[in-house]
Amino acid sequence: MPPIESAPAPQRVAVVGAGMVGLATAWFLQERGVQVTVLDRTGVAAGASWGNAGWLTPGITTPLPEPAVLRYGLRAVLSPSSPVYVPPRADARLLRFLTGFARHSTPSKWRTAMRAFVPMNRRALESFDALAAGGVGAMTHEAKSFMAAYRTEAERSVLLDELAHIHSAGQAIEFDVLTGAEAREVEPSLSDNVGAAIRLHDQRYINPGQYVHALADSVRARGASIVAGADVTDIRDEGTGVRVVTSAGTDERYDAVVLATGTWLGELGRRFGVRTVVQAGRGYSFSVAIEHMPAGPVYFPAQRVACTPLGDRLRVAGMMEFRRAEAPLDRRRISAIAEAARPLLRGADLDARADEWVGARPCTPDGLPLIGRTRSPRVFAAGGHGMWGITLGPLTGELLAEQITGGGQPVELRPFDPLR
Ligand SMILES: Cc1cc2nc3c(=O)[nH]c(=O)nc-3n(C[C@H](O)[C@H](O)[C@H](O)COP(=O)(O)OP(=O)(O)OC[C@H]3O[C@@H](n4cnc5c(N)ncnc54)[C@H](O)[C@@H]3O)c2cc1C
Repeated sequence: MPPIESAPAPQRVAVVGAGMVGLATAWFLQERGVQVTVLDRTGVAAGASWGNAGWLTPGITTPLPEPAVLRYGLRAVLSPSSPVYVPPRADARLLRFLTGFARHSTPSKWRTAMRAFVPMNRRALESFDALAAGGVGAMTHEAKSFMAAYRTEAERSVLLDELAHIHSAGQAIEFDVLTGAEAREVEPSLSDNVGAAIRLHDQRYINPGQYVHALADSVRARGASIVAGADVTDIRDEGTGVRVVTSAGTDERYDAVVLATGTWLGELGRRFGVRTVVQAGRGYSFSVAIEHMPAGPVYFPAQRVACTPLGDRLRVAGMMEFRRAEAPLDRRRISAIAEAARPLLRGADLDARADEWVGARPCTPDGLPLIGRTRSPRVFAAGGHGMWGITLGPLTGELLAEQITGGGQPVELRPFDPLR
């Protein structure tokens, strides 16, 4: 076998994508003395990093392909009001994704993927603390309560089983099993229809848009430029450096480049050997006023609805829609989320919605992100985190910065090799 080509530690690096993952990578590269330019075709937090639920929940950060999702998916995906939606005519790429996803939705594949998440989950919050200590001016909030709420005990058993599996994979997560009345005592915003709940401990949350903008401010203050409106159309490895070309005709040379383009990772990654399909798993959110603001996130797992207190508004998020990232916002999905939450929330004004939003989770068929070196020693991938790019974004940046600056591949990143 020919020796693997390596490159000297880069001094000037371009990061393509100004979402959580790209900006965290830029920040941690700066920690290591690298001069960074961030390029985004729209601007800071223009992709999935804006309207998501903002949960920092390493305790339940698990692979998306799992046996229950598959069973559910096959039953209900074709209805516009179902929380999982697959268009009736899937194109070849989507079919490839769905076939791979189904193949990975077995208990043993889940256990293997979970073993890859555990060491990341252990360190995920420490990376947020490093960002705070380094001057990023946005808070992470301790979730005083993190409530998963159900109509019935039978519905609750699904998460209890999953928590048992999470425990046996070696991941710590403390929780209380509550009746509906006990849950309402903690969260008066839960309606009388809630008959069973689980309260998770030691998780956090953020206002993701605000946080990512604060991260961008810090990256700028440390000397980087963040270029909005820079649509990167080509990357050429010239042997001693890379050229990064945009649709506006700019053509700049860097020592290395990081592809942190979220659901669009494949577009630039494929030519560097990244063959894993990154499929848009689109989610929706909106915000509402509520009488009693919950003390932390509220989760309705059976409806797949996630609620997060953001100041004086409650963000309500949900849906997994496997469609083109650029497709227009489908109002039926917003209504479906509101109708799913309505019977379970008390005092929420679900008809006066603001901030309606759609964004694309970058989903891979095996549920694992793509982080590390590509076929070129000067081109790195950082994306494909699916449901968990906010929780794992900062640690991804920290570990990848170590690898890019010559520290070798951190053990935590081995399962996420972009060339797998
Ligand atoms: C409804 C919903 C709820 C979620 N809730 C959570 C949660 O609670 N916790 C959690 O951890 N995760 C959550 N997620 C997942 C999380 O939002 C994503 O995993 C994460 O934001 C991905 O970040 P990213 O930086 O990889 O991608 P993005 O934020 O999508 O950023 C990619 C950027 O790349 C830019 N770009 C793409 N192509 C190019 C190009 N060619 N040239 C220049 N720029 C380009 C885009 O403009 C974009 O700004 C949720 C997602 C959704 C949809």
